[in-house]
Amino acid sequence: MIDVKIDYELCEGHQVCRDVCEEDVFEWRSGKMVVANTEKCTECWLCVQNCPTAAVSLEG
Ligand code: SF4
Repeated sequence: MIDVKIDYELCEGHQVCRDVCEEDVFEWRSGKMVVANTEKCTECWLCVQNCPTAAVSLEG
């Protein structure tokens, strides 16, 4: 199964990943983006392609 990762060294909290993801993989919690539902990922790559700081990656 694919693993969705956020590099917190790069993430600036723009929340684009959550906005473009149609599967509700990401959730904004206490001022931080988290990968809440990796198992829902359909590997569309929209989050990776649209993150302005290249903080999101798919692994596996
Ligand atoms: S690859 Fe697509 S489905 Fe998977 S987390 Fe990113 S936007 Fe959501």
